[in-house]
Amino acid sequence: MVSITPESVLSSVVQITEQRSQQHLEDCLASTLAGLAGLPFCAICRPTPTAKGIFLDYVSAAGSAADTAPTEMVDIGSDPLLLDCMTMATGRSEVLADGSLRRAQPIIDDRGAVCAFLVTLSSSGALDRLALIDSFAAIYRNYLVILRDAARDTLTGLKNRKTFDENFAQIVASSRHLEISFAGNRRTGHLDGEHHWLAMIDIDNFKRINDTYGHVFGDEVLLLLAALMRKAFRGVDLLFRFGGEEFVVLLAPTTFTNAALVFERFRAAVAGYPFPQVGSVSVSIGFVRIQPEDLPSVAMGSADKALYFAKANGRDQVQSYEQLLANGSLGA
Ligand code: GH3
Ligand code: MG
Ligand code: MG
Repeated sequence: MVSITPESVLSSVVQITEQRSQQHLEDCLASTLAGLAGLPFCAICRPTPTAKGIFLDYVSAAGSAADTAPTEMVDIGSDPLLLDCMTMATGRSEVLADGSLRRAQPIIDDRGAVCAFLVTLSSSGALDRLALIDSFAAIYRNYLVILRDAARDTLTGLKNRKTFDENFAQIVASSRHLEISFAGNRRTGHLDGEHHWLAMIDIDNFKRINDTYGHVFGDEVLLLLAALMRKAFRGVDLLFRFGGEEFVVLLAPTTFTNAALVFERFRAAVAGYPFPQVGSVSVSIGFVRIQPEDLPSVAMGSADKALYFAKANGRDQVQSYEQLLANGSLGA
């Protein structure tokens, strides 16, 4: 059996807290804890709400039995231990036929919801490791809160620019799995089917709002705009404040028609909203389809061109990069 020393525990904590993204943190936690405590199985899975109920998504697994982690999402109803752990929001254990102990420890986020489970298997001779496992679950939870805070814009609470590239890369990776019947370049390619979309949103004449009413009212407009964004977009869409009065939306897969409709609805919601003191505020929006091979800078550049076109043609409007290309509005 692996012996645990203060040095090995500390070195594990150091390794885990060196991670700067949630995915790396979870991979590192599973492998470090499996190694440190000699666990045949240590995994992190997330409860994921779907139309058919809550499903379990194993995001990382380590140990000699790591390959027993489900690769597909599984209905939480098929795993009574995790269902129990979710319902009670407290650690639960079960003894398996061979005497080993399967344990699920819920990770509770800052809103009090179970956001993940640490699932471990301890062999019958190593049951004294439970306190260690629970402590690592607590370190993971605390560190997750710090990581999440660091990813937020302090004024609006939206995601900040620092996490954009990582989020974008995840979306691009997942869009490879979408059935995309797309051939040729943007100019000739059609826009059928569902895609991810990137929109840049910029407040019109914001400098004038600041100059006329002062920065405090300017900040209030930014806050209210973020609230309107949360209302207009779905929970699966990712909302960023990119800095100043610029916002970015990564829209979860949908059709071109629907994306255009959603952005237009948001534009109209802003234009119709009575901002205290300031009165009416408008936004210009440029959006582009995200392609599986896109770099963030390329998609941003295209959305920016559409946004620039909107600014140059009267503001308070939504422009699609693909449509502007197709009708020759962007020149060569
Ligand atoms: P346009 O319609 O072309 O976008 O004009 P604009 O005035 O919105 O654009 P410009 O880029 O000239 O001005 C942006 C202003 O945003 C300048 C700056 O004073 C203000 N700003 C940037 N960050 C903040 C912030 O955090 N709070 C407040 N109140 N103002 C900010
Ligand atoms: Mg701007
Ligand atoms: Mg502006």
